[in-house]
Amino acid sequence: MTDEIDGNAVSAQIRSELEASIDQLGESGVTPGLTTVLMSEDNASQTYVSMKQRACENIGIDGQTQELDADQPAEDLFDLIDDLNARSDVHGILVQMPVPDHVDKRRVFRSVDSMKDVDGFHPENVGRLVAGNARYKPCTPHGVQKLLESAGVKTEGKEAVVVGRSDIVGKPMANLFIQKAPGGNATTTLCHSRTTDLAAKTRQADIVVAAAGLPEFIDGSMLSEGTTVIDVGINHVDADNDKGYKLVGDVDFASAKQKADVITPVPGGVGPMTITMLLYNTVKAASLQTDVPVDLP
Ligand code: NAD
Repeated sequence: MTDEIDGNAVSAQIRSELEASIDQLGESGVTPGLTTVLMSEDNASQTYVSMKQRACENIGIDGQTQELDADQPAEDLFDLIDDLNARSDVHGILVQMPVPDHVDKRRVFRSVDSMKDVDGFHPENVGRLVAGNARYKPCTPHGVQKLLESAGVKTEGKEAVVVGRSDIVGKPMANLFIQKAPGGNATTTLCHSRTTDLAAKTRQADIVVAAAGLPEFIDGSMLSEGTTVIDVGINHVDADNDKGYKLVGDVDFASAKQKADVITPVPGGVGPMTITMLLYNTVKAASLQTDVPVDLP
């Protein structure tokens, strides 16, 4: 029997434990604050920002959204980031990606105060992650670690194959797997668009994390029996329904399930975890900035 991980259930469990952490902060008069900055007219970005806002409200985080027009000068964004960096009631700052082309994404990552960088994209936080001393683990790969833990999948000594080398998913995922720490200690292969014979790599894996953004491209023929398959992909494909589209992952679920021992669905797998781990990092940020200790899930 294949174990299908229910990302919504794992996420709900972590969120309920986070509520207790938020209560601990509240006893010292601290309300964690997260400000999301949106500089885009992109529908998907607007949806993500409103989902984050709602998640904050539901759990007791002071979630605020600041919007800029996509054609505003880049300096307006950097001035806003400076203002948010200076505010003691804002513990976390998230600039929704992608930013417009005239804004230097790397400068955005550098500009957010590293203590408030709840995405974990600031070079200092990336360096800490690589060095094995993470302050804020990037939300999606951290969510994957929590899903594996919830399913009782051990990473130690296992062959992990990460497909995709983006700064937000693939690279930090591989960096977490190689750490000498719980959820790490895996022998890790990072595959990407120039990898030759991807199937040979994934067939050797005990754990495959798919994050390439290609609909259903990893199928059962690319997996060995007993693999754990974590599907990060979220792809819109045409469908004969009211919306005219449906969401699929990077994994062909039906054929992969024939081989996998453990698998995540899309939707309802990794997706719910990303915002949950953002809430986690915001609570941690509030604790670090106010010196109020909290127990984190
Ligand atoms: P990205 O587009 O930045 O990077 C894709 C990566 O895939 C690249 O590093 C590229 O080298 C690699 N790649 C492309 N073609 C490949 C091939 N044929 N073989 C092997 N590797 C190949 O993507 P991203 O931002 O990391 O997102 C990946 C997917 O995950 C997307 O579908 C995205 O929507 C989804 N995503 C989901 C969540 C979530 O919360 N579940 C969060 C972030 C991203």
